[in-house]
Amino acid sequence: MKIAITGGAGFIGSNLARVLTEQPKITRIQVIDNLSTGSKTSIAGLGIDFFEGDIQDADLLDQVFRGADAVVHLAALPSVPRSIRDPLASHQANATGTLQVLEAARRAGGLQVIAASSSSVYGANPRLPKHEDLTTAPMSPYAVTKLATEAYLGAYHHSLDLPVLPFRFFNVYGPGQRADHAYAAVIPKWISAALDGRPVTVHGDGTQTRDFTYVGTVCRVLTEALLHRIVEPRPVNLAFGTRVSLLDLIPEVETATGRVVHREHMPARTGDVAHSQADSSRLRALFPTVAPVALEDGVSATVDWFRTSVMSVAPN
Ligand code: NAD
Repeated sequence: MKIAITGGAGFIGSNLARVLTEQPKITRIQVIDNLSTGSKTSIAGLGIDFFEGDIQDADLLDQVFRGADAVVHLAALPSVPRSIRDPLASHQANATGTLQVLEAARRAGGLQVIAASSSSVYGANPRLPKHEDLTTAPMSPYAVTKLATEAYLGAYHHSLDLPVLPFRFFNVYGPGQRADHAYAAVIPKWISAALDGRPVTVHGDGTQTRDFTYVGTVCRVLTEALLHRIVEPRPVNLAFGTRVSLLDLIPEVETATGRVVHREHMPARTGDVAHSQADSSRLRALFPTVAPVALEDGVSATVDWFRTSVMSVAPN
């Protein structure tokens, strides 16, 4: 099998590329990435074909998808605050970008398209757990672009019979996730702060909950979806229904780093949802053999990665 990954130099994409190189049935991996947030070093030495460029470039997409059996579409501007600051850029990268990928998949003869949507599409709908059939209520331009992503996949399936699978990712974390930019996610930011002896920043009172999903679990599901060519035009939550508050996360970070964590509180952020927990029944029915990595093991593996990869190149 030959697999293309858009955004394959990013956090989830580079983890996926690594996992796929270990699959005997997968003989070739082609990555396209414009390196806006990703880095070439994350996939260095994996023996994959790297194309530096933008998914808006239809000719380049045709090159990357030529001979491929499937594409995992991860390229996006993945930040809620950034989408509030610059909604047109988010729309261009995420919604128009998805359309470009679908068109290229169609031109390539009907590739399987697996794409990343987000739990943010549930937005202001307060019901828990989040079942895929709940009414979506995006609270940010980013969430709208992800709803557009899954709607486009559904439409290409129904009108052109394209084999598709839109996943709603929930707070993915793990090795390779950056802590050093303005829109970094909570787990890498807190691990980095704990290892540096800085306080962690809690937006709001910290009782908000998230369904944290280890990147290895996400890659396992994506790999199974590719190997078994799973097709499902309805969105599928990619999380297992674990509900952890930010305050509960602090002892996990303390145990894994061996440091006492001090916290400072800041006002809640616009566009952030209060509670998030997946209904995982659709996921479990499609992938009955995949079990999630536990939070304590995932946080511990992430701390190990920070110690070996980040601290070794940090100036102090
Ligand atoms: P990331 O920023 O690490 O990876 C995105 C990659 O896409 C980067 O390497 C970036 O350089 C590349 N990229 C961005 N725009 C591009 C473009 N126009 N053309 C080519 N490449 C482009 O983010 P991630 O956390 O790995 O997220 C991957 C996907 O999963 C995204 O679609 C994101 O919206 C989605 N997602 C992630 C999470 C999470 O918790 N990490 C949650 C929900 C959804």
